[in-house]
Parts: sequence; structure tokens; C-alpha cells
Amino acid sequence: MYSSTHPVNVLKFCPRCGSAHFAATGDRSFKCSDCSFNYYANSSAAVAVLLFNEKGELLFTRRAIEPHLGKLDLPGGFIEPLETAEHAAKREIQEELGIEIHSLKYFCSYPNEYVFSGFSVFTLDLAFLAQTESIHQMTAMDDVSSFEFYNPHDIDLEELPSISMKNIIKELIQREGTY
Ligand SMILES: [Zn+2]
Repeated sequence: MYSSTHPVNVLKFCPRCGSAHFAATGDRSFKCSDCSFNYYANSSAAVAVLLFNEKGELLFTRRAIEPHLGKLDLPGGFIEPLETAEHAAKREIQEELGIEIHSLKYFCSYPNEYVFSGFSVFTLDLAFLAQTESIHQMTAMDDVSSFEFYNPHDIDLEELPSISMKNIIKELIQREGTY
């Protein structure tokens, strides 16, 4: 019932003592019967940044890496340990596009299953509306090959590789004029 990339089917040994007596005790919990180590595969937090140009078009990036190489994405990425979501949003935009953003406003969150190197990372993607004065100074860098602007209504949701991105765009359209 679990996919082949689900932690239950991937994690075989205790990360603390290396024992093979490391078993799933639920769909996200594991216990080692040799050293009593408990591990929980909790959601990883990530950010997505919503930036509009002066025509009301939304910024998208093209992924330069797997998974989903070449697909449209929203700029953003994983929140690092002990980092705030706001800091992660600013850092990711600096890394991917080389610009500063400000006036971050929380918009919504959606879960996703991100499969990387044969392992499912369950994420919670937090979307923030942001502003910048440097939208014309952007350069695609890091894990992004290019950036493109689209009216959210014109996006083919099937072209977006993750369910969380689809849901964020759907909510943007539903709440249009209220944010
Ligand atoms: Zn152990």
C-alpha cells in the first residue's frame, strides 16, 4: 500500500546504531529494537514565493535539476534547520534569481510528496506574496534555468509538476482581487 519510495519501504537500518532491527511502527514512525532509537518522518517545510510584475503576471521558474527537470515551478525551496520561513524565501530568491525581496505576506500552504533520489520527502509548501524593486535585474542561477511570467489564468495546471503548486495557483485565482 505504500509506494516504493515511501520511507517505510526505503529506511532499512537504524540511523543511530546500524541495526537491521529497525521497523516501522506506523506510517511515519520507526523504532530500533536494539538501541531504542525512535525516528519520525515528519513533513519538511518549504517556501514558494509569489511575485507579480507590473502587468499582473506571476513569476515562474524552469527547473534546472531533477526531479521534474525542465518543468515550470514557483521560485522557492526547502527551509533550512533553525531558519524562519521568511528568511528562507528571501534566501531562495537571492540564490535562484539574484534579487532582494521584501514585504512578505503569508498566503496559504499545501502539502506535497517530493520524490528525490528514490525517497519520498513529504513537504508542507508555504506560499508568500512578496514585492521587489529589482524584478528587471533577475538572473537565473542555482537550480533554475530560466524565469518566465504568466497570467495565472493562462497556466496549464497539468504542466506544473507538484500538486502543491497546482493548489497554490488555484487559490490565487479563487482569491484574485482580495490580496
Ligand atoms: Zn539502533
